[in-house]
Amino acid sequence: MDETLFSIIDTLSTTHSLSTEQYEYLVTHRSDEGAKLLQVRAAAIRDAIYGKDVFVRGLIEFSNICKNDCYYCGIRKSNPNLSHYRLTEAQIMYCCKSGYDLGFRTFVLQSGEDGHFTDDVLSDLVRRIKIEYPDCAITLSVGERPYESYARLKEAGADRYLLRHETATKAHYEKLHPPEMSFDHRMQCLRDLRKLGYAVGAGFMVGSPYQTPGDLARDFKFLEEFRPDMVGIGPFIPHRDTPFKDMEAGTLEDTLYYLSILRCMLPDVLLPATTALGTIHPLGREMGIQYGANVIMPNLSPVTVRKMYELYDGKICMDDEGAACSRCLDLRLEKIGHRIVVDRGDRKIQTEEVLL
Ligand code: SAH
Repeated sequence: MDETLFSIIDTLSTTHSLSTEQYEYLVTHRSDEGAKLLQVRAAAIRDAIYGKDVFVRGLIEFSNICKNDCYYCGIRKSNPNLSHYRLTEAQIMYCCKSGYDLGFRTFVLQSGEDGHFTDDVLSDLVRRIKIEYPDCAITLSVGERPYESYARLKEAGADRYLLRHETATKAHYEKLHPPEMSFDHRMQCLRDLRKLGYAVGAGFMVGSPYQTPGDLARDFKFLEEFRPDMVGIGPFIPHRDTPFKDMEAGTLEDTLYYLSILRCMLPDVLLPATTALGTIHPLGREMGIQYGANVIMPNLSPVTVRKMYELYDGKICMDDEGAACSRCLDLRLEKIGHRIVVDRGDRKIQTEEVLL
């Protein structure tokens, strides 16, 4: 029995704050008992705010064309084996329609950094979706753009923006990205998005190459201080056509433990059980919910293009239509005592202390 570990878990779940050294202790001294205690605390905090409701977001991967060359990512510019696609506006609207009919009230539009989607093109698209589905939230996840561009997209009606920080340690960032990409710029983008009034999502890959416990501790401290509305974490999974093809994947146990840390740290955060988690274990997403997550993002992209949006090897749900995905998830969540709700799924901002 590690008294220090237990007292750190207590502090985290009651004050929602730790020092960077304490986060590092959590990472390096995990025990089965400690992880169990943290899970119980995380689930109780989540239940106190969100109950057993799980929010769904329909993910539309609308282009796999990207000007960047991130060493870990399967849709990187210099992957010679990638077939490219870009959905038309009509196809994207069709994805939204099928998602709306299934009860989704948030659409997440994600893509590589594709130059075709200028501010004019993308803001027209956002406006059109908002006109057709005024009761839905739009989340963008289209990478780094200038402040003015984020401002125009916000004005067009985008509500939320996902931009994982990837790592809060500059030296680590530089091991994951080519020299033309900048840690400082990515962090600036997150601050710009926040300033413009978006609900902002940050996050990182668990077990990304060269990640140390100190890097993870800095990720946690960064997230504690930045207080994003959403945090996306999932295991790193190597992709066969990238420089990191022979690197080890992140683990299920680490990811679940970190989900619990995040829930205890940011009680009202919107925390997805990601597709990558479902990829490394058949019940990964269900377990993610049991460790404190409260969001699932089923894929609404047309089945014909899904295989081409392969960020990592073995990505799941490549063959099921959106409807089948959604039914399958309903059943899976029901089995663990949760339910999907038809709702925009906004963050329930928690002002009072959560009593355990
Ligand atoms: N172009 C957008 C969307 C990127 S893809 C952007 O820059 O934000 C969304 C996320 O997938 C990335 O932020 C990254 O954290 C994750 N990802 C990419 N490659 C991965 C891999 N090999 N394993 C696990 N996650 C990966």
